[in-house]
Amino acid sequence: MIQARRPTSPIFVGDSRVGIVQIGGGLPDASGRPSVPAPISVQTMTAGYTYDIDKCVGEIHKLAAAGAEIVRVAVPEKKDTEALREIIPQVRVPIVADVHFHFQRALEAVEAGVHKIRLNPGNINDRAQVKDVIQACKARKIPIRVGVNEGSIIERKDKQKRQKELGAVFSEHKHGYMLAIMIAKLEEYLDIFYEEDFRDIAISAKSMDASLVIAAYSEISQRFPHPLHLGVTHAGPKETGCIRSVAALSALLTRGIGDTIRISYASDPVYEVEDGLELLWSLGLRERKGVDLIACPTCGRIQVDLFTLVQDVRKQLAARVTVPMKVAVMGCIVNGPGEAEGADVAVFAGDRRGIIYVQGERVANVPEEQILDTLLTHCLDFQGKVLRGEVKLGDKKVAILPPDPLGEVGSGWEKVAKGYVASATGQGKAVGLTVGKT
Ligand code: SF4
Repeated sequence: MIQARRPTSPIFVGDSRVGIVQIGGGLPDASGRPSVPAPISVQTMTAGYTYDIDKCVGEIHKLAAAGAEIVRVAVPEKKDTEALREIIPQVRVPIVADVHFHFQRALEAVEAGVHKIRLNPGNINDRAQVKDVIQACKARKIPIRVGVNEGSIIERKDKQKRQKELGAVFSEHKHGYMLAIMIAKLEEYLDIFYEEDFRDIAISAKSMDASLVIAAYSEISQRFPHPLHLGVTHAGPKETGCIRSVAALSALLTRGIGDTIRISYASDPVYEVEDGLELLWSLGLRERKGVDLIACPTCGRIQVDLFTLVQDVRKQLAARVTVPMKVAVMGCIVNGPGEAEGADVAVFAGDRRGIIYVQGERVANVPEEQILDTLLTHCLDFQGKVLRGEVKLGDKKVAILPPDPLGEVGSGWEKVAKGYVASATGQGKAVGLTVGKT
C-alpha cells in the first residue's frame, strides 16, 4: 500500500514566465501560509556545457519536451553563470544552478535570474560565504537545495574521533558512519540557514548505494521539515542505473517520502526524465500522460517479430498520443485476449498476423507487415473519440474470454484457423476470431 505523503514546508521554483513548480507541501510554507502537497515533480540535469549557449538551450528544450519540470545546469566557471543571462530568457522551464567549490558562482547565478540554487556542504562550507549566498537568495525569494553527497563529504575535524562517535549512532546499519556523517553535515549546515531565518530549503542525501539512499532519506524525513529531492547518484548506465534507482526510490516513495526526483544515468538525460515519469505513473503517484504500454516478454509460441513491433509502437505512440490509453501488444492468443479485454486498444498476434481490438471489440485482422500502421490508426482514432468525449478510457464493450487451456493445442494462427482453440475452449465465438476477415 502506498502511504500518505510526509508533510513538508514547500518551496516554489520558477516565476510567472516559466511557471512555478511547488515542491513538497502539507506544512506552512516559509511565509507561514498553509499548503497541500504538490504532485511529485521530475527533474534532470543537462549533460553539455552551460557556456555553449545554443546547445544548452536546445538541450533544455529537449528535456522539457520529454517532461522535465525543472532542469539543473552546471556552473563551474564564470562563463557558465554569464551564459545563464542568455539561456534563462530563452527557456520555458525553471532552471537550477548546480554550484560546487565556488560560492561566487551561486551569487552570479542569482544575479543572472536563476530559479533555484543547489549547494554542496561538502565543498562550500565557509559560514560567511554560505551566508552571502543565503542573503542573495533571500532577497530574490530563490530556494536553495542543500545536497549532501556520499562521494563529496569531507570530514575535516578529528576524523577518527568523529568516526567512532558518529558510527555508534547507527551501529546497527551497515553504513552506520556514512549515514551519521550525512545527517550531522546536514544539521550543521542547516543551522547556518536557520540562523539567517531562511526556510526556502530542499534537501538531498545521495549515494550510489541504494540501501544507503533508503536509510539516509528515511532518517532525514523524520528530522527535517523540508521537501526531499530523491536520487541515487552515479547510478551508472541506464541498463543498471535504472534498477538501482527504482529500487531505492520506490522504497521511499511508497512510504510517502520524496517530493521531487531525479534519476541519473551515464546516458542521455532524456532517459532520466522518461524513466522518472514512468516510475511515478507506475506507482500511481502522478496521473499518466500518454500511453500505458503492456507487452508480453515473448516465448516459444511467438509468431511475429514482437520486439521490433513493441519498440515501433512505443516510439510512434509516445510522439502522438497524449491521453493515458492502455495499449496491449501480445505475442499470441494465450494471453492476448485476456490483455485485450483489459486494454483500450490491443493487438495479439497469430501466425504472421495481428488481431486488433478497441475496447474489447475486434476491429482488424491484418498480416504482420500491416500491424503497426493499423494499430496506430486505431489508437489515434480512439484518442480522437476520447478527446471529443465520445468514449471513456477504461470502458469496454465486448467481453473477451481468454481461450484456456491452450497447452494442448498450441497458440499459432494456424491452430486458430483450424478451430482448435475454439473447440478446445468453446469460446471461439466469444473471442470472435474469423480468419481472413477484418
Ligand atoms: S503472450 Fe504468448 S508469446 Fe507472449 S509470452 Fe505469453 S504465451 Fe508467450
